[in-house]
Amino acid sequence: MHVVTGATGKLGTLAVEGLINQVPVEQIAVVVRDPAKAARFGELGVEVRQGDYSDPASLADAFREGDRVFFISGSEVGQRVPQHKAVIDAAKAAGVALLAYTSVLGGPAADFELAREHQITERYLIDSGVPYALLRNGWYHEVYTEAIGQSLANGGLLTSAAEGSRVASAARADYAAAGVAVLTGEGHEGAEYELSGDEAWSLEEYAAEVSRAIGKDFPINRVTPEVHRGILESVGLPPTLAPVIAGIDDAVSRGLLAGTSGDLSRLIGRPTTPIAESIAQAAKAL
Ligand code: NDP
Repeated sequence: MHVVTGATGKLGTLAVEGLINQVPVEQIAVVVRDPAKAARFGELGVEVRQGDYSDPASLADAFREGDRVFFISGSEVGQRVPQHKAVIDAAKAAGVALLAYTSVLGGPAADFELAREHQITERYLIDSGVPYALLRNGWYHEVYTEAIGQSLANGGLLTSAAEGSRVASAARADYAAAGVAVLTGEGHEGAEYELSGDEAWSLEEYAAEVSRAIGKDFPINRVTPEVHRGILESVGLPPTLAPVIAGIDDAVSRGLLAGTSGDLSRLIGRPTTPIAESIAQAAKAL
């Protein structure tokens, strides 16, 4: 079976849709914490299995021997180490054929706080003996483009990243296609892919492209890391999470999210989606 965890999320939904286009639907299963949210997939003939990363007992029946699993990292920052370990333990007990985990660009070299949980997960997965593939995802275009409306309302793109720093993001759909390629392809066991966009863009180039697409000025609101953390806290981020999120821009300043290895376009067999395309889509939806 081809199995997608986190299938009710945005990346997972795209991956399931991609699988449906490539393999018979009876060879596809999803592992979700709320089966009601996956009803649409169930109606299409996808097997829906219940499993909550936070509840190891619920994962006991989530995987089967020989499954090829696209393991999408959890979204609850701070809780992901025990959650991911529980998934890996369950996959090991079941005897899956492949566990392809969505890690972070750079893997062990990703020297910023948000990467820590991924690094611990990678190590645990490698040491587990489960056949694995590491899909080290860079940033989604949508991290930026889905925030355009909010940024406009708040006077521009809030950032504490240094002038000229670059991001090699790719569309969520590109990363989903990579997951599908690894699940349906051969020879990915033990692979460590550095997945990112073919081109690294600067925030200045990004803002100029957004301005063009929306037909009005899209300024950059550049602040210090301290001010950035304060703003994030003032809009409700917990004091523990604000530095983690602000820390991403520090990583951007240091070029840690700018790598363009070409692994993503090689895996999916086409160039990655240009940022301008995602901006145009987001602009239409404004
Ligand atoms: P979403 O928030 O849309 O989806 C997250 C998925 O994880 C959902 O299906 C959610 O289930 C599931 N999930 C969360 N907690 C649990 C749990 N305890 N047990 C089972 N399932 C759980 O994120 P995306 O699809 O956009 O991104 C996928 C992952 O990639 C994120 O979870 C995060 O780890 C990472 N990410 C990467 C980014 C990047 O730019 N590279 C940006 C943002 C996130 P439910 O629907 O029930 O909530």
